[in-house]
Amino acid sequence: MKAGEQKAALLASMEGAPVTRAASCLRKYLRGERTTQREAILGKCADCMAYFVDGRYGCENEACPLYPWMPFLGRRSGAAGPSTDVSTVEGR
Ligand code: SF4
Repeated sequence: MKAGEQKAALLASMEGAPVTRAASCLRKYLRGERTTQREAILGKCADCMAYFVDGRYGCENEACPLYPWMPFLGRRSGAAGPSTDVSTVEGR
């Protein structure tokens, strides 16, 4: 499968995925639009976390070099309280 086809298939698979900034960044890349480094990180985390379909929480994989920059950093699975996308916080 060529890269363009792979991107199109991945974009199609995102239909119905939760709306998060990270998922939007991934969609932007898959549509062929230019992304910033920050958007690329958020997009990769959305891909890695299956678009956050299981909830908006951190991956807890501190071995990953992207970990300090991932959305929902520090938010645990099943945590109570309102969802907060820390990627929207200035400077993140
Ligand atoms: S920080 Fe976590 S979610 Fe993001 S790419 Fe690394 S392992 Fe995946």
